[in-house]
Amino acid sequence: MRDRFQKFMTGRYGADELSKLLSGVAVGCLVIAMFAGALPPLWIFYWVGLGLIIYSWYRMFSRNTAKRYGENQKFLNWRYRMAVRRDASKKRFAQRGEYRFYKCPGCKQRVRVPRGRGRICITCPKCRREFIRKS
Ligand SMILES: [Zn+2]
Repeated sequence: MRDRFQKFMTGRYGADELSKLLSGVAVGCLVIAMFAGALPPLWIFYWVGLGLIIYSWYRMFSRNTAKRYGENQKFLNWRYRMAVRRDASKKRFAQRGEYRFYKCPGCKQRVRVPRGRGRICITCPKCRREFIRKS
């Protein structure tokens, strides 16, 4: 039985981080659907959960490993960017007493300035554009 499964999986993609997330969300949806019971608008969770399970199985048994690998890489990059963004916003929150944060109108770079200096001219460290803000 195990042998046959291994043979079946040869050349197929298998599980990755993306499929773990998909199955996790799917289980969450199905649990919500279970508790939703008689509330018709929440049946959507059942179909979404079912769809996600089918999609994650499709990915696991897929033979197009290059494409699946690419999808997973995209997902990992996205997750990494989210983590970086979350850390940065935590840091800004911790410094909000002493600093103000502005986005450069030219390049969207976030700029940190000390509070309590009145109206100041800020020079963007990235594109050197100058703009005036209250500090
Ligand atoms: Zn700039």
